[in-house]
Amino acid sequence: MSDAFDTIRAEEERLLCRSYSRYPLAIVRGEGARLWDADGREYVDLLAGIAVAGLGHCNPEVNAALEAQARKLWHVSNLFYQEEQLELARRLLSTTHHGKAFFCNSGAEANEACIKLARRYMRKVQRRDAFEIITLSGCFHGRTLGTLAATGRESLSDGFTPLPEGFRQVPARDLDALAAAMTPATAAVLLECVQGEGGIVPLPADYLRGVEALCRERGVLLLCDEVQCGMGRTGRFWAFQHAGLTPDAISVAKSLANGLPMGAMLATDEAARGFEPGSHATTFGGGALTSAVAAKVVEILLRDDIPARAARLGAALMDRLRALQARLPEKIREVRGAGLMIGVELAVDGKPVWEELIRRGFICNLCHGMTLRLLPPLTIPEVDLDSFAVTLEDILAGR
Ligand SMILES: *Cc1c(COP(=O)(O)O)cnc(C)c1O
Repeated sequence: MSDAFDTIRAEEERLLCRSYSRYPLAIVRGEGARLWDADGREYVDLLAGIAVAGLGHCNPEVNAALEAQARKLWHVSNLFYQEEQLELARRLLSTTHHGKAFFCNSGAEANEACIKLARRYMRKVQRRDAFEIITLSGCFHGRTLGTLAATGRESLSDGFTPLPEGFRQVPARDLDALAAAMTPATAAVLLECVQGEGGIVPLPADYLRGVEALCRERGVLLLCDEVQCGMGRTGRFWAFQHAGLTPDAISVAKSLANGLPMGAMLATDEAARGFEPGSHATTFGGGALTSAVAAKVVEILLRDDIPARAARLGAALMDRLRALQARLPEKIREVRGAGLMIGVELAVDGKPVWEELIRRGFICNLCHGMTLRLLPPLTIPEVDLDSFAVTLEDILAGR
């Protein structure tokens, strides 16, 4: 690598906690679905900051909303009423059956809000001592102590125990296991309709409807983690809408403010009765600046029907990748996903393929060493997806 890159890497070693393993790239500029590194090389971005820059980097309309709000008001805290929060809530709630929003700053916090709401709803509204949260194998819900307990992956909690109690995990796609795990102490089931960090694993619609039916039968809340799969990514505004679910609450974050830290919990009016003034709070949540930006993001998603675009481009790309799989079955094991949330599970070691993609100017993520994870901006030009498919074929065919 170059001098510019080596200098940055040496400075980081000296200055930052070593909690990340980085890609060998220092990114200095972005525009739409393009990124540039410290040496001036250009890349097609098929990762969007891990499903965050849904409307592309430095989107001009979002920038304009940011600049206008930056001159008006940034932050006054949740001690005050703020029209920016209401405008965001109106727009977000227009996309779903939920009636109430709570704003926070990240995906983990949005899940914490869902978990806290479910427990408090059971205790204070239902007057039942139900507190347990059931999650599914392969899930990812965040890195706070509570959401680590929900995620239930030992490699992530190594050295951090004890974790909070009251979480239990069952195998995904197994309704009998879920039914057996539910007890009078169960407050909620928390799941991702399309598991993201798990390697882009869409859960079957009939399984998801079975989970919801079990929840209704047993008086258990259904919580959907839409942090990665929400906001139009899968081709509907929310991933739960593909299966026709009506979750009691959902968590939202990643692309909500296109790169500013922002999270939300959306809940039905009934479930939202679990909170009352003082029961949950965050200093930064729903600040005027982030709310104004997020409101613009939701406006654009709806105005331009971006979810439909994600559905169309994603279906076309998945067709191409499946045709590639048919030509090279010894190289590609499976292509799966929904909309522009796509996993290409390789039948060969993924690292050299992923590294060669970067050398040829395409940035994506490698999950578990074998699945190329594609989460491009939903506004990505179709030609960039075409050239990715051509390049991937060249690499896999040894050209
Ligand atoms: C990224 C992610 C989270 C955690 O979000 P943070 O903003 O990193 O706290 C939670 N759930 C899912 C599904 C995610 O993809």
